[in-house]
Amino acid sequence: MAYVVTDACTKDFVCVAECATAAIAPTAADPAAGTVSQVFINPDECIDCGNCAEICAQNAIFPGDDLPADKAHFAEKNRAYFN
Ligand code: SF4
Repeated sequence: MAYVVTDACTKDFVCVAECATAAIAPTAADPAAGTVSQVFINPDECIDCGNCAEICAQNAIFPGDDLPADKAHFAEKNRAYFN
């Protein structure tokens, strides 16, 4: 299951640059960046490498299978961003 960004995200965009499959959006250059409170991971593009979670200073990113119970709804929130 793909990695998931939660509301601890502060939009520093460090993970966006780290992702080899460009699964994380919006980028800092995307006009949408100003309209969202966090970035999101496209579950269809994520290859589960874990690089984004490792580099996140906020610990905002979790493996989908390991989301804290109170953050479970963020899996659908991440997917919905790309629909
Ligand atoms: S786990 Fe890897 S592939 Fe998936 S969003 Fe993070 S950096 Fe990208």
